[in-house]
Amino acid sequence: MMETRLKIALQKSGRLYDDSVSILKECGIELQNGVNKLLNEAVNFPLQILFLRDDDIPQYVQDGVADIGIIGENIVYETNKDVQIIDKLGFGKCRLSVAVPRNENYKSVDFLKHKKIATSYPFLLKNFLNENQVDAEIHEISGSVEITTGVGLADAICDLVSSGSTLFSNGLKETEVILNSEAVLISNQTISIEKKLLLDKLLFRIQAVKKSKKHKYILLNVPDSNLETVCNIIPGMKSPTILPLGVEGWSSLHSVVHEDDFWNVIESLKANGAEGILIIPIEKMIL
Ligand code: ATP
Ligand code: ZN
Repeated sequence: MMETRLKIALQKSGRLYDDSVSILKECGIELQNGVNKLLNEAVNFPLQILFLRDDDIPQYVQDGVADIGIIGENIVYETNKDVQIIDKLGFGKCRLSVAVPRNENYKSVDFLKHKKIATSYPFLLKNFLNENQVDAEIHEISGSVEITTGVGLADAICDLVSSGSTLFSNGLKETEVILNSEAVLISNQTISIEKKLLLDKLLFRIQAVKKSKKHKYILLNVPDSNLETVCNIIPGMKSPTILPLGVEGWSSLHSVVHEDDFWNVIESLKANGAEGILIIPIEKMIL
């Protein structure tokens, strides 16, 4: 009998490709070397990888041609297929926004009434307009949405934005955020028990990788008189590790800090007499 394999669909090229392949790598999953650009087989995990256009991934996963996939939330909601989002992956962050020419006097969504809006996201835009009771004309195009106002094809656009530099260089300003998006792991609604076990194994690894990226290992020296205060600043996973230093009255403290409050933590550690602070990346984190 053939061994059960999980099938994952990834974007074959584009903005999500590198991070999708790296997350598998960080999960210890190694792909075969350049045999086939569209279909690959992991060498050390029962996983087959299908490389597709991102827009096609929800359909493949819905139909069970792939069991799972990595894709932007924007595509999941726009294609509106029957798939399940099982985890957010923390990369491919962007937002779907409305933008208008910079010189327009935009005050509210009412500006968009009876205007022509160019987008590759007609479904999400339509929902947004309906929710706001705005009647407008949606002009669906598949690419280069940002140039449409400049050439007189549309009065406004609805497109993905990350830094905003593309909008800026096309003389546009962002006026509404319709959706915040990042890459997610999606799954077919009904996967077999054997495949579910493999998926859980993969998810366990993904979570360890994600957690490790959000944390840093920290080592520092602190006078014993300030030890308690410093321990309260960095409580660590269970509690910090404390080792006596060779010098009387000093200890070395090891702990884990979260990236969100990283710089605030460092500042208050210094204010409390911590010295020789070392910050080390964590490769995997299993709680
Ligand atoms: P494909 O050839 O696979 O259809 P594409 O051109 O539709 O590719 P990309 O531009 O590679 O798609 O973007 C893939 C995804 O990356 C988007 O759907 C979105 O989730 C995410 N993304 C992150 N930042 C941005 C951005 N600034 N512009 C567009 N997409 C972004
Ligand atoms: Zn696409």
